[in-house]
Amino acid sequence: MSNPVICGVDFDDFVISMEEFHGYRSPGILLGGLMIEASLDELGDTPYLNVATETVVCLPDAVQLLTPCTIGNGFLQTIDWGKFALTCYDRLSLSGVRVWLNPDALGGFPLVRQWLERSSHKKEKLPFEALAAEILVAAKEVISQRPVHLHRSLKESQSVPTGRCPVCGESYPLHLGPTCPACQDQAYYFYQDPTKQAIRD
Ligand SMILES: [Zn+2]
Repeated sequence: MSNPVICGVDFDDFVISMEEFHGYRSPGILLGGLMIEASLDELGDTPYLNVATETVVCLPDAVQLLTPCTIGNGFLQTIDWGKFALTCYDRLSLSGVRVWLNPDALGGFPLVRQWLERSSHKKEKLPFEALAAEILVAAKEVISQRPVHLHRSLKESQSVPTGRCPVCGESYPLHLGPTCPACQDQAYYFYQDPTKQAIRD
């Protein structure tokens, strides 16, 4: 069997790069790659490509491996809906193609179905090779797509005014309130060493 190609990348090379980048061979990234390919095939050549994923797991890494869009450059946006779906779109025209998995088409693909149903629970590992082989066959049937138009670009294009937080003294975007989010009791951390401030000063 000839080596499949996903978004111009050889299957074997794609698996190696996902292991390096993601930490392990991921069926979700493989399926994500095929979803990106389906979306881009329909969208056509797009110099101003942006991608929005509707989950924060797996799909963002597929996007970062196969397109120039990354979280850090702002051309990949992730929405934490827990849906295995994404939209490739042109950030100037706001035209795009949304792709998702059609649950009604999963019947003939027991491993893919099993993997999807387990993905939200404790993961028992399904053998990657068998699952990957089924994903490659299933892609054409289970990936649904539709053209969409975005309400607005998801990338923040205006520069945001910043200032210093009157409590902690660090810089933050002023539109978030009179103090930074951490000083509004939204911190995700606490300092273990109460004398840290004193030592720094
Ligand atoms: Zn602060």
